[in-house]
Amino acid sequence: MAIECKKAKFATEKDADFFIQKLKATSKRAKIPTSSYFCQRCTSWHLTSLKQNEWKEATSLKKQLESLKLAHKEEVKVLKEQISLLKQENTKEVNVDSRIKKMNNTLLEKLKTINRLRQDNKDLISKNIQLEKIVNNK
Ligand SMILES: [Zn+2]
Repeated sequence: MAIECKKAKFATEKDADFFIQKLKATSKRAKIPTSSYFCQRCTSWHLTSLKQNEWKEATSLKKQLESLKLAHKEEVKVLKEQISLLKQENTKEVNVDSRIKKMNNTLLEKLKTINRLRQDNKDLISKNIQLEKIVNNK
């Protein structure tokens, strides 16, 4: 959908230039359009009272501004992506940290269990020795 422009629209450059000639011949206005230009926004021709070179300068300045805006937008986009990546990495690190903590805790629990089992085994062995002694002494 084309964007609506408030300026008078002409379908072709010929129509626009014809209208300028008509104004030049008939209008008593102080400011008479001197040239036409194609508008990318509404894809029709508008009139301007800027002289051709002024118009060219204005257009080139506009283009520079647009490309600066685009470059700025691109920069902001890249920065946002970097920030989001950093955030992700930070989250990963936090996750790794908490995973290591959990694993350490699990390992500690397992070590405690192993120690308890070792103690139980020792007790069993000593009980077995006592039992054997009793049996052998019978
Ligand atoms: Zn327009």
